Amino acid sequence: MKAKTMTFKAKITLWFAMALVIVVGIAYSIVFLATDNVLQQSLKYKLIEATDNNVSDIEFYLDISILNPSGTYLLYDGYYIEIDTDTLASTDNMIFSLYNSDGEMLYGEDSLISSDIISDIGEVQAFTYEDNTYYVYDASLSEIGLDSLFVRGVVSKDEAWAMMSDIIKISLIVLPLLIIAAIVGGYFIAKKSLRPIQAISDTAKKINDTNDLKQRIEISEGNDEVHQLADNFNEMFAKLDKSIETEHKFLDDASHELRTPISVIKSQCELSLSKERDPVEDKEAFNTIARQTSKLTKLTNEMLNFSRLENQDRYQKDDLNLSELVYDLCNDMALIKDKGITLTSDIEKNIQINGNEELLTRMVTNLINNAYRYGKENGHIKVKLVTKDYKIILSVSDDGIGISNENKDKIFNRFYQVDPSRSNEGLGLGLSLASEIANFHDGTLSVESKIGEGSTFTFTKEIES
Ligand code: ADP
Repeated sequence: MKAKTMTFKAKITLWFAMALVIVVGIAYSIVFLATDNVLQQSLKYKLIEATDNNVSDIEFYLDISILNPSGTYLLYDGYYIEIDTDTLASTDNMIFSLYNSDGEMLYGEDSLISSDIISDIGEVQAFTYEDNTYYVYDASLSEIGLDSLFVRGVVSKDEAWAMMSDIIKISLIVLPLLIIAAIVGGYFIAKKSLRPIQAISDTAKKINDTNDLKQRIEISEGNDEVHQLADNFNEMFAKLDKSIETEHKFLDDASHELRTPISVIKSQCELSLSKERDPVEDKEAFNTIARQTSKLTKLTNEMLNFSRLENQDRYQKDDLNLSELVYDLCNDMALIKDKGITLTSDIEKNIQINGNEELLTRMVTNLINNAYRYGKENGHIKVKLVTKDYKIILSVSDDGIGISNENKDKIFNRFYQVDPSRSNEGLGLGLSLASEIANFHDGTLSVESKIGEGSTFTFTKEIES
């Protein structure tokens, strides 16, 4: 139950601590085993060395006349073996004793090794006595006549670790302290690293509570994964905020645009119904009603187009010959000849596109229609379709009224019209729809223009490989 309520940083610290203890434990065991081997080996060498030294230190005499009268001697088989304080003295917790080949101890400390255990001469052997393990090493005396005697060196196996005990004691104290320091350090690092996640969670909660998509995650500068996550969230919030704002504005503008024709229709009806009028007046009223009704129809159709475009699945994409599509459209629309304007085209053959025919037709038609509507008397429209640098470039140029720099961005906004009186029943939706159609095809729609000289609208799209 408790693990579920643990914070993420507590979990990270716990895992980190467990991993650390396991790693240190394994490392410690490996070092312990390796050290143990080395220490046991060096203890054995030490025992061999000390026992051999004792053998060579033993002095013996055959000639009784040269013996020191105050000295102590051990008589064995005609040899006088000199015994002084150094003889077979124990050093470094190693004890030495002199034995004969029957296993009888002649001199030295009782090594507690039972006499029937006589180790192989020249080899260290392990022997367990009362739960303790000892190393035993026998070295025989070399002198002929004394070669049935040998010196036995005995040392407890634990002595190996006695040499290391200080280091072990220190490491046993220092290591847990180091582990605790690493865990505390790890906790603070985890806390610091996860602070941006806390900020992300706080902001998401605030947005949820207040529905305010203007909130942003505020964290310090950084470029790690968590900072990237926060940046991505901020970008997503900004996009959502913008698209919701656009939707609200569209809804506001659309209802405003719908209200005008409806109130005109209503007032015309009321006027006609309120009193007897002559048929000419009524006909005029019907004409107005018909005009406003067609505006309403146009408006609702455009709104439907936008909502269908937003739901991308509604439009299917097929492989199309864009060159043929544009060529046919140009041929048809050149016949409009409005204001004496001439339409010419320059179309590269067989440019293929994966797109929707209906939408592409609408985009090109909107651009050419605008070029007629905002073109000058006896002017020119040029439609050009080429491929360049792995891009499809489709442009519609006119030599009409042009667009000021400050309006260049705004004209792509829904319902925006530079001068509604000039737009001749336009709704201010044509360019924004064209721009969304360009986006739908993973392309862009841009404009170059100069007031009084004309405009060029360009659709650009990378060629799919
Ligand atoms: P509208 O129905 O008003 O034409 P659009 O979205 O098609 O709506 O265009 C938005 C505005 O951009 C127009 O009102 C017009 O002022 C300007 N505009 C569009 N095309 C051209 C053009 N070829 N030359 C000059 N101005 C243009």
